[in-house]
Amino acid sequence: MMMSKELIVILAICKSLLPCAYATTFDKPVLPLSPIMLDIFELEFNRFPKSEAITCTMSNHRNNSRNGKIDKNYRWKNFNIQPDPAYDKREYRLINDALYNLMEALPCITFGIWPPNSKPTGDYVYIIKGTKNGCNSPVGRIGGRQEMNLQSPGCMSVGTIMHEMIHALGFYHEQSRPDRDNFVEILWDNIQPEFEFAFDKYPDSDVSTFGVPYNYESIMHYKGHDFSKNKQPTIVAKNGAKVGSVGYLQETDIQKLKLMYECL
Ligand SMILES: [Zn+2]
Repeated sequence: MMMSKELIVILAICKSLLPCAYATTFDKPVLPLSPIMLDIFELEFNRFPKSEAITCTMSNHRNNSRNGKIDKNYRWKNFNIQPDPAYDKREYRLINDALYNLMEALPCITFGIWPPNSKPTGDYVYIIKGTKNGCNSPVGRIGGRQEMNLQSPGCMSVGTIMHEMIHALGFYHEQSRPDRDNFVEILWDNIQPEFEFAFDKYPDSDVSTFGVPYNYESIMHYKGHDFSKNKQPTIVAKNGAKVGSVGYLQETDIQKLKLMYECL
């Protein structure tokens, strides 16, 4: 179908000045829009000083009884989010783009955004901006409203936002896999004591690898020095590989999402 020139112009404006959705009210979530503006300018948006980057801690780590990721009750049919109205258009845009990337990776469930001032119904993730709340999310679907923290600055890159959304979809960190000791060594003596929990390993009664190989560059993998108390590494690969997400979805991340959601 041919689109009129005017419609193309309107769509282009909408995509560059998200969210046009602010202008009206909605009784259902809207689809994330294609990040068609991912040019050099856009990539600049995704870059922020490393000194600002905050490492994710998840948020229901102390309640393992709710963590049964093998349990299908924690999965979503409609993964809907609602961003805090405090996010500016650039930040909203990054959230949109992260959700869009996941929608492309996982075509067998739906993804949607409740515009900031709409009244969501059903299960959804409310994303809180804040300045000191860190980057964290419960693992899996809780039911009704659940909260994700994406503070700004600190968490607002497409890679970090996807990481938190993948927690909400049901995955722990790559280095928490039941088989992680075959691949990495955790250097406990270098970890800040209050963050030792973040390096816990989960049993295969709760967590499945879905048969997908360990990936040191998974978007869900900590970097080698995360939560170090002495600038020494906290995780090293047993084969000498560099460890840590490079900020992009890896093929193994997509495979695991598809296997969890029986999307193959
Ligand atoms: Zn995380």
